[in-house]
Parts: sequence; C-alpha cells; structure tokens
Amino acid sequence: MAGSKGKQGKGTRLVTTGRTGDFAEHVVNPPVWRASTHLYPDCAALREGPKANEDGRFFYGRRGAPTQWALSDALTELEPGAHGTVLYPSGVAAIVGALMAVLKAGDVLLVTDNAYDPTRNTAMGLLKRFGVENRFFDPLDLDGFAEKFCDRTKAVMLENPGSLTMELCDIPALAAIARDQGAVTLMDNTWATSLGFPALERGCDIAIMALTKHVGGHSDLMMGSASAGERWYRRLRMTAQQLGHVVSPDDAALALRGLRTMGVRLQRETASALKIAQWLEARGDVAQVLCPVLPGSSGYELYERDFTGGCGLFSFVLKDGDDAARVRLIDALQLFGIGYSWGGFESLALPFDVPSVRSVMDWPKENWGIGDSCGIRLSIGLEDADDLIADLDQAFVAMDKG
Ligand SMILES: *Cc1c(COP(=O)(O)O)cnc(C)c1O
Repeated sequence: MAGSKGKQGKGTRLVTTGRTGDFAEHVVNPPVWRASTHLYPDCAALREGPKANEDGRFFYGRRGAPTQWALSDALTELEPGAHGTVLYPSGVAAIVGALMAVLKAGDVLLVTDNAYDPTRNTAMGLLKRFGVENRFFDPLDLDGFAEKFCDRTKAVMLENPGSLTMELCDIPALAAIARDQGAVTLMDNTWATSLGFPALERGCDIAIMALTKHVGGHSDLMMGSASAGERWYRRLRMTAQQLGHVVSPDDAALALRGLRTMGVRLQRETASALKIAQWLEARGDVAQVLCPVLPGSSGYELYERDFTGGCGLFSFVLKDGDDAARVRLIDALQLFGIGYSWGGFESLALPFDVPSVRSVMDWPKENWGIGDSCGIRLSIGLEDADDLIADLDQAFVAMDKG
C-alpha cells in the first residue's frame, strides 16, 4: 500500500486510509473502543503513561483510543502537507480551539467578512474577552487586506467560498500576504473538504472542517477537525488537551463510515447542484444564483484554478421577492427539509438575510444588485436531481399563488 500512495486516486485513498491499526488484520473497521480507563501491565508502566504524550499511545480516555486515532490518521492522510489532525466535539469547537491555539492576549486576528456566523460571533465575543482584538476584511480586496495588518496581527481566519453568499476568494494570494506579514493562516474548509481543496497545499497553515457536514454525511453526528504541519499541529494538540476536548468513539466510528463514501456523495451532490443551479438561473423570478460550481458565477475562474471538486451547497436570490413570498416557497417544498446544517444525504433549504452578518463587504446592492431579504440556501442531497427540480417548480407555483 505504501510507496504508491501519493499517486492513488481519491476514491482509493478514501477506502484504504486510516486502516493501519492492529485491528486491520481482522476487521475492515476499527472496533468502537469505549474507554475512560486504559489498563497498564504494572506500576512502572502506569508511571510512564503520562510522561510520553505521543499519538497512538494509551494514557487515559481523554487522549483517545484506536477508534478516534483511526479517524485522525485518515483525515491527516487525506490532507496533503498535514502532520496530524486534532478532533473536536463540533465544527465550532474546532474553530475556537484552533484560534485559541495560535492567539494570546494582545494579538490581533483578521477575520474574513463572509465567515460562517458563529465564527464571527466567536471572534467578536469569546476571544475579545481573552484580550484578542479582531478586525474584519473583505476577502475580495487583496490590496485592502494587505493594509489591515499591524505589528500585533498574528492570525488570519479564512473561509472559501463565503458563507451564504458563496463568493470565492483567492486563497493562495491571501495566504501569501499573511505569510509575508508573519501571521498564521487558518481556513474553514468545510465546503470543499481536503478532497476538493487541499488547503495546506494552497498556502494555509491550519485546515479546519466541520465533520458534522460532509464527513459525517448522514446528519447524525457533530464533530470538527483541524489538520496542520508539525509545528502548528503540536500547538493544536496541546491546546485541545488543555481545553479537555475529546470525541466519543461511537461518533468517530460513524465519521469514519461517512468518510468512506464521501467522494461519491460529493461528486453526485455537485453534479445535481449544477443541474439545479442552471435550472434556477434560467428562471425569470430568480435574480442571482450564487453557486461556485456554476460557470459564470462570482469567482468561477478561481474554482477552476484552485479546486478539484465542490459540493451541493449553494444559494440563490429571488427577484423582487419579499419575505412572505420566500416563506411561501420554502414552506411548499416537499423533498427539501427546512433546517440548519448541510452536507447530509437529504436536501435542505433555509432563508437567509445577508446584511446582519456582514461588516465591511459591499453587500448587497453594490456588488450584487439585489435586495436584502430574498436569499435562499439549498443543500443538495442524494435524491434525483429531476425530482428536486420538480419539487422546486411546484414550490415556485405555490409562491406565486400568494
Ligand atoms: C456548520 C459549520 C461549522 C460548524 O460546525 P458545527 O459542527 O455545526 O459546530 C463551521 N463552519 C462552517 C462553514 C459550517 O457550515
């Protein structure tokens, strides 16, 4: 298996990765190893336990067991350039845990203005209480970004595409500027995962994912991860230990199961999303389709340049829509669930209003020419695309009936 690994395709790597423990000779999946207590053969071994803080060594349940280690190893192998991966009890915990690993009181954090809303709240709230200042920047304005740095800027938080509005930014260029300025770059890579966007190879120092979304893939677990090269991995790991983060072996086993099929799910969801986006784009009552995998969308040339795959999450904006019309449309959907989260096998829809979650970007009118409260986000699942289109079609009819 080793040796030719780098040349193997994504599907093969998804199947073979993380299957190297003693168990692998006997079963395909690691046993669900439930343990708070690990037993030592004698007192001498017990006394050695806490000293050697190494990966893959038993100590106590909080440092994990083979089930969690198999998942970490798999995620590390799938992220080119990573030395290790820390698991967190949610995606938000991964973001907060990673930021706390790289920042201290007095530092300044730059946050992309189109970040996932809890990232913004965390940056503004929790870190501020611990003496970290934060400033938002427009990720589409490279010159403006370079001007935001000061002596105390120690970290940059990126996300691509932007939350809700889905525009793509030039991550390699932003990361290069951050590196020149001596700041560490973190990226929320939940949308594409390491399969579609190798964040460390593109210049980021720490790649974060909400495993709750594509890796879990079945809407039945919460988890997050942060992968990095050796230097930052050590910091991430130590801080996670200090914060007491651990994930359950049951959830780790579910996440590993999800990971095996993630490649085919993402391919299928991306193909369906493109078909549905094209259908929406052709409608007179849709002002804009905000879909990174759709040719002609904002930053599509960056999608072609930097990504090797996408996913089924995108947004669109109703023309002349008001909230009541939007609610009629969403409530009429039969196949799409109404709910937060995304990346599961089932399709979801939710309304969003951008102005409340932007500080410095020119949303909405200048850049997009559209109104304030007519955004709808879709997470396309594994249903047949034609059925989803038929469902949307009847929901538009219901919207028009008023
Ligand atoms: C959902 C999400 C998160 C947070 O993940 P949780 O597991 O829900 O805490 C982080 N980033 C992005 C982009 C997300 O969509």
